[in-house]
Amino acid sequence: MPSKKVLSEKTLDCPKCWVAMEKEEVEVLGPNIVIDICPKCSGIWLDQGELNKMLKDRKLSDYLTKHIGTQSKSKLVCPRCGWLMDIETAEDVDVDICLKCGGAWLDHGELEKLKEISGAGFKGDEFAKEVERWEEMVQKDKQSLLLGMFKRLSRR
Ligand SMILES: [Zn+2]
Ligand SMILES: [Zn+2]
Repeated sequence: MPSKKVLSEKTLDCPKCWVAMEKEEVEVLGPNIVIDICPKCSGIWLDQGELNKMLKDRKLSDYLTKHIGTQSKSKLVCPRCGWLMDIETAEDVDVDICLKCGGAWLDHGELEKLKEISGAGFKGDEFAKEVERWEEMVQKDKQSLLLGMFKRLSRR
């Protein structure tokens, strides 16, 4: 029988096969986490913060989940919130990250590859990150510009 914590959580569908994923409790440093695994393709869904706990490498997990820009290069839809996802690359591993909730989709075997990359001492690709920071900045500017216009219009 699954524990209470597992039951209380919503079942997610695999973003690739559209079948219900199975919950699996994983022992990590601190409280255990419950991750979602697809029974068909063995892909893994990790909510925000869970990637860091699985990898025990803040640098690598931050690299993959922070400053991900606004461009959606992934064809997947986030199983958690239904938002667009982007592809972040560490060495030769492509991870899909939700632009809204920051969850991560790992294809079968990618977690192991990420652990290897982490073990080898991942430094990150500063140039790729700069491009994405810039994208975020432009997007924010656009939003504040629109908000300013809206405020002016509604004042009339
Ligand atoms: Zn699947
Ligand atoms: Zn999401």
